[in-house]
Amino acid sequence: MLVISCIKQVPDTTQVKIDPVTNTLIRDGIPFIINPYDSHALEESLRLKDRYKMRTVALSMGPPNAVATLRKASALGVDEAILLSDRCFGGADTLATSKVLSAAIERLGKEEEVGIVFCGKQTIDGDTAQVGPGIASRLGFSQLTLVDRIESIDFLRKTIRVRRKLEGRHEIVEAPLPVMITVVRELNRPRYPVVAKRLEAEDKEIKVWDNSVLRLDTETVGLKGSPTWVSKIFSPERDQGEIIGDGLRDPDGTAGLLLDRLLAKDLLAP
Ligand SMILES: Cc1cc2nc3c(=O)[nH]c(=O)nc-3n(C[C@H](O)[C@H](O)[C@H](O)COP(=O)(O)OP(=O)(O)OC[C@H]3O[C@@H](n4cnc5c(N)ncnc54)[C@H](O)[C@@H]3O)c2cc1C
Repeated sequence: MLVISCIKQVPDTTQVKIDPVTNTLIRDGIPFIINPYDSHALEESLRLKDRYKMRTVALSMGPPNAVATLRKASALGVDEAILLSDRCFGGADTLATSKVLSAAIERLGKEEEVGIVFCGKQTIDGDTAQVGPGIASRLGFSQLTLVDRIESIDFLRKTIRVRRKLEGRHEIVEAPLPVMITVVRELNRPRYPVVAKRLEAEDKEIKVWDNSVLRLDTETVGLKGSPTWVSKIFSPERDQGEIIGDGLRDPDGTAGLLLDRLLAKDLLAP
């Protein structure tokens, strides 16, 4: 049974610069990383490989330079790493992104039974948390989000039991396989690649599937297939704020000043 992890390449910086003309992220010259939540998705797939000998595939949709991100996944021990890259996939919103990823998962499923698809809870750039659920609904898979523990997998009954991290509480849920799971950081601690594996991964093939492989209608992918497009990205104007008193040297006095200020601004009931 196959376990797939969807990993997105994201800018390794919060100081992203926006191209004022195209309103898109300036990607040249900035380092990229595996989206932090996806490192936990990848790690969990490798743990299922270690424990149940499941075959693991890392999938990423992105520009050609995303090969470098998949090479990191390869160095960690995934059996196969596939980049979904084609100009017609560019500019995709979450709907169009889940379309391409689902088509690749369906294609893999023709060769081998897909049991689990892991996604991160969300990315640090788009931040929508929509792609995982999009994949589940397109493929008709069970959908378990915000998972912080896999309780058990019953390969005979084809069910999985997980714990979900909700606000201030947890819930245990059981669902039939195949399943799409979005993971949170508490699920595991990602391993580090050993040097030998890293060197090995340098020569390992990273497959690249373009649209001649997935054969998707180009009107339904990329910018053309995206009902949502980012019209403007900007950093909101921040009020400079004001330093009141000196909390270190005179905490009580500062607290008094702050209280007066809040009362004066009617932000506190007298
Ligand atoms: C600043 C900014 C704002 C944006 N706002 C929107 C918006 O409001 N609506 C919209 O539709 N699009 C938006 N986009 C575009 C959106 O980022 C892309 O569609 C992206 O491919 C998927 O959305 P996401 O980053 O929010 O992913 P999320 O839904 O947050 O990702 C969840 C998980 O899905 C998987 N995943 C996501 N993308 C990929 C990928 N390319 N390859 C492999 N796995 C992946 C990963 O496991 C990831 O952890 C925005 C992009 C940017 C940079």
